[in-house]
Amino acid sequence: MKGVLLECFGGVDCLRFYDNLKEPKLKEGEVLVEIKSIGLNRVDIWVRKGVLSYKPKLPLLVCSDASGVVIDADSSVRHLVGKKVVVLPGVSCGSCQSCKEGNDHLCSDYKLLGFKQSGVSAQVISLPYRNIVEIPDSMDFKEASCIALAGITAYSALFLKGGLKLGQSVLIWAGASGVGSFAIQLAKLSGANVVASAGSDEKLELCKSLGANEVFNHYKQDPAEILSKFGGFDLVIDSVGGQTLQKSLSYVKPGGKVVFFGTTLGSSIELNIREVFSKNVSLMGLYMGPSWVVFELIKLYLEGKLKPVIGEVLSLREIARAHELLEEFKVAGKVVLDVGSW
Ligand SMILES: [Zn+2]
Repeated sequence: MKGVLLECFGGVDCLRFYDNLKEPKLKEGEVLVEIKSIGLNRVDIWVRKGVLSYKPKLPLLVCSDASGVVIDADSSVRHLVGKKVVVLPGVSCGSCQSCKEGNDHLCSDYKLLGFKQSGVSAQVISLPYRNIVEIPDSMDFKEASCIALAGITAYSALFLKGGLKLGQSVLIWAGASGVGSFAIQLAKLSGANVVASAGSDEKLELCKSLGANEVFNHYKQDPAEILSKFGGFDLVIDSVGGQTLQKSLSYVKPGGKVVFFGTTLGSSIELNIREVFSKNVSLMGLYMGPSWVVFELIKLYLEGKLKPVIGEVLSLREIARAHELLEEFKVAGKVVLDVGSW
């Protein structure tokens, strides 16, 4: 079968396309999924570069997000064969207290596909049957492949951590990113006042079209005017990291919340902690979120209230180019790999 393996840590040359990989064998409690589409995430770049604290064993099938069709299943779940599915990006034990409470992302054995566990970058993959969610026929494979990781992160940041309520104000940094484009739509649905930043006119237009009330260019504009209009933000969603986090702390209202989860601009910074405690700010880290959120996202999608923003579609063979596009911040929305076109 065709597929892509990460063979070293470094540049995009470390991603190698093969057309003679061995198909996986079905194991107990697992399903085989024929992959139709893959959604890229920024974490894919960190894994490729080997800059995360955990170094996966190589070679590795990469990427965490995918959609496809179940082509074989363990006898206990045979009814799943033929179903159209979205792959859940994290594998957990399924039996610990966190898993039982619906917080699988807090499981001590939680493993992200394409990082701590074999990923989705092949024509056929095997994974635990608990890691797929059936989707309706009307759902497009490409859209389905970008909903899980970014959608779960956006929903968790806004509501599960951020507790965003009707009428509150939220600042979403990098609103045209994968997570940002979901966050704007979800925040708007909740009745919040949404301010988003982006780095180009095209991206700012996208943020507006998704429902942002106000936008500003984070390279060129000082959001002081917007800030004074809202008197600070109840919630700031920071997927950028680096020195942006200090700005997030300046822009949040006393008693407000800053939820952060990205390191696009770096993971080590000098932080004025006085700004955190003197304003009674809750500074909260986020890594993924519970898998049940996907059901909520699919429901909103079917109601026509949530639409994944796809900026670029390439073939699996072009994965190196896809990584470059993400790294160059050239694409508004998600980068998708079509696993049917070569
Ligand atoms: Zn568990």
